[in-house]
Amino acid sequence: MFQPASMSVPPPVSSPSVPPGATRLEEVLERTWGYTSFRPLQREAMDAILARRDSLVVMPTGAGKSICFQAPALVADGLALVVSPLISLMKDQVDTLVGNGVAAACYNSALSSEQKAQVMDDLREGRIKLLYVSPERLVGEGAEGFLRRVAAGAARVGFIAVDEAHCISQWGHDFRPEYRQLSRLREFFPGVSLHAFTATATARVRRDITEQLALQSPVELVGSFDRPNLTYRVLPRASLKTQILDVLKRHGGEAGIVYCSSRKDVDQLAAWMQGQGLRAVPYHAGLSDEERHRHQDAFLDEHADVVVATVAFGMGIDRSDVRYVIHAGAPQSLEHYQQESGRAGRDGLEAECVLIVSGADFLKWRQMLERSGEMNDQKRQLLRDIERYAAGVGCRHTHLLAHFGERYGKDDCGACDFCLGELESVGEPITVARKILSCVARVGQRFGAAHLTNVLRGSATEQVTARGHDTLTTFGLLSDQSQDDVRGYIDQLLGRGYLRQTDDQYPVLALTDDGVALLKDAGAAPDLTLARQRKPDPSRGPRRSKAETEGWEGVDRDLFERLRAFRLTVARGRGVPPYVIFHDTTLRELARTKPTSIEELRHVYGVGAKKADDLGAAVLDVLRGA
Ligand code: ADP
Ligand code: ZN
Repeated sequence: MFQPASMSVPPPVSSPSVPPGATRLEEVLERTWGYTSFRPLQREAMDAILARRDSLVVMPTGAGKSICFQAPALVADGLALVVSPLISLMKDQVDTLVGNGVAAACYNSALSSEQKAQVMDDLREGRIKLLYVSPERLVGEGAEGFLRRVAAGAARVGFIAVDEAHCISQWGHDFRPEYRQLSRLREFFPGVSLHAFTATATARVRRDITEQLALQSPVELVGSFDRPNLTYRVLPRASLKTQILDVLKRHGGEAGIVYCSSRKDVDQLAAWMQGQGLRAVPYHAGLSDEERHRHQDAFLDEHADVVVATVAFGMGIDRSDVRYVIHAGAPQSLEHYQQESGRAGRDGLEAECVLIVSGADFLKWRQMLERSGEMNDQKRQLLRDIERYAAGVGCRHTHLLAHFGERYGKDDCGACDFCLGELESVGEPITVARKILSCVARVGQRFGAAHLTNVLRGSATEQVTARGHDTLTTFGLLSDQSQDDVRGYIDQLLGRGYLRQTDDQYPVLALTDDGVALLKDAGAAPDLTLARQRKPDPSRGPRRSKAETEGWEGVDRDLFERLRAFRLTVARGRGVPPYVIFHDTTLRELARTKPTSIEELRHVYGVGAKKADDLGAAVLDVLRGA
C-alpha cells in the first residue's frame, strides 16, 4: 500500500536477535483480524515492541498504526497500556477489539462506577490485555492512586503505547499539555518500553516527541506519507454551494465531511443541505453536548451521510468509509489539512479531498491569530506553507509529500486535479501577472480583489466609474477571462508572494518587493505558471482516479449495497457503528469473490475467526440472495 520512506534501527543495547513471540504475530493477525500480510513497517514496529526497544512510529492515517501495538499485546506477556487523547477514539478501538474477541478495555470518565469497578476487577485478575487510558488519568490529579492499582494487578505492565503522540508538540496540530508529563510513567513502571505513534510527519514534531517522552535510542520508523487512494483537488472559491453540490453529486449516499471555518457557516450550510434533501447534520462547539453526541452518532451509525462541521469534529472519528472531505475555507496549516483531509478513505478505498479556498481565508487567519495574541513566527510560516499549496499549480501529492520532507517518485500521480488534467495553464503567465500587478499599482494599492477583478475585466460597475477606474490603461486588460479565473490568478500571485494583502479592516492588495521586481522586469524572469479550471468536457465523463477504477473492479454493485444493508442491520442490533462489523473493503471483496462456504469466507480480507463464526452463515445467506 505504501513504501517506507526511512528507517533507522540503531543496534540494540543488549541483543535479543529474534524477539520472543515474533513468529506468532502472523498467526494472531490472521486469526484475530483476518489479515494475511503485514503492511510496510508494521512488522518492524511490532518487533520493536516485542524486543522492548523504545520506538517512534510515524505513519499516515489509515496506514494501520493501531495493529502495531495491538498485535504484540496479544503475543507478549502482561498488560499493554495505551495512552489515547480522546474518549471516543478509545471507545471505537475497544469496541472493534472486543468485536474481534480481544480482551480490551478502556478506563475513563465516561464509564459508570460499576463499569469502572468491573475494569479494576479484571485488571486485578489479569484478565485484560490492552487497557486504554487518557493522559489526564495518568498524570493528572489522582493519577498515582490509579497507577498503583494498575501496577498491583495480576498482569505486569509490559509496554506503553502513546497514540497520537504529536499532541506532545506545539509544532503539531493538537497540542495537549498533559502529554508533556508522560515520560514520568517510567518512574512508575521501571523497565517498560515506551512506543510513540503519530501521523504527523514533520521532523520538528518527531524531535519533540523523542525529547519530551525521553525515548531511549528509539527505533524510528517513518512510513511514506503518500495516500495514493486520495484524490486532491483545489478550487478557487467562486459559488460555494454549487461547488459543494458538484462534489456531493459524485457521492450519492456515501459518507462525507464538509469543514467550515465558522459555526455560523456550519449552521447555514447544514440547513441548506437538509433543504436539498441531503442527510446532513451540523457539528460544532456551540451545540449542546447532547446535540453534538446525537449528530456524531447519527453519522457513525449511518443515519446521516454528511457532517457539516468546524474542526471541533474529527479526532476520534473512525468511520472508515468517508469518501470525501471538503474544506469550505482554508485550514491554518498543511499539518491541519493533512490531518483533516486524511479522515477520508481510511479503509484504503478511493476518496477525494477538495479544498475550496480564497486569498481572504489566509488573511482572516492572520488577523484572528494577531488579535488573539497567538501569532508567532511558527504560525506565520505554517500559514505561508498552506497558502503556497493552495496557490500551487502542480501535482498535489508531490507538493504535500515535499512539505513532509519526502520525495514523490512519480511524474503523474493520477489522483489530483493537476495530474487528471482538470487545470489548464495560462499561456504567457508572466504577461498576465504583469497586467494584474500593474493594475494593482494603478489603483494606488488601495483596493481589494473584487474591485481589481472588475477593473481588469473591464466591468464598469458603479464603484469603478465613481473612482474613474474605467479610464485607467489597465481597464479591461483581462476582458477575455472569466471572473473566477481572474480571482484565481490573484490568489495564485498572493500565494507566490508577488502580492500581499494589507492588514486593514478592508484589506487591499499591495505589491511586494518581488511583485515590484516582476513588474519592472528586474532580474531573471521567474518560472511562473498560472492556471485555471478547465471547463468540464461532457463527452469525457467524470475523471476517475486509479484507486477508484481498481476499487470497483469486478464488484457486483447491487450485492455490495445489499451487504451494506445487512451490515447496518447487524450493527443496529448490536448498538455499534457499522464499520466495527465489517469495513467496505471486506464488503467489496465479498461482492467480488462471492464465496459459497464458511471455509472460503475465512479467506476473505478482514474476516477473522470470530467474525466467521459469528456472522458467516448470515453473510452466506445474503450472498445466496436468500
Ligand atoms: P491508523 O491508526 O494508522 O490511522 P488504523 O490502525 O485505523 O490506521 O488502520 C486502518 C485500517 O487498516 C483498519 O481498518 C485496520 O484494521 C486495517 N489494517 C491494519 N493493518 C492491516 C493489515 N496488515 N492488512 C490489512 N488491513 C490492515
Ligand atoms: Zn498529481
